Amino acid sequence: MQLDSLYQEVILDHYKHPQHKGLSSNFDAQVHHVNTSCGDEITLNITLEADIVSSLTWDGQGCSISQASVSMMSDLLLGKSINDASAILSSFCELMASKGTSTGDADLLEDAVAFAGVSKFPGRIKCALLGWMAFKDVVIQAQSK
Ligand code: ZN
Repeated sequence: MQLDSLYQEVILDHYKHPQHKGLSSNFDAQVHHVNTSCGDEITLNITLEADIVSSLTWDGQGCSISQASVSMMSDLLLGKSINDASAILSSFCELMASKGTSTGDADLLEDAVAFAGVSKFPGRIKCALLGWMAFKDVVIQAQSK
């Protein structure tokens, strides 16, 4: 229970103080993703230098889960290679598919393990995944240029 409230705090902190929010004027690719079941939306800009994520900025609105998750995602994946970012993305998707049975790989996910509890609530999983799915999409678009 104490652990749950700690996690809640990490999520609220990102919601109140979002990281890398505010779209960069230059970018290699931009995507806009919407979670219609909750009304969340985000726009995500990426710039790649060789295979490193050199800029990752976003803007959006919606519930605390969706906005905190995209904030944490941008913080975690900025500066990573595409390979490392993909491994982190897969790990987060696995966690969201775990139905509350996994606590997440803290080595890979760092603070994002705070979302482990969300995997128990099917209605909220899309909120948590919104930013991460946008990242998957924006990388494909940036690489296809
Ligand atoms: Zn939501």
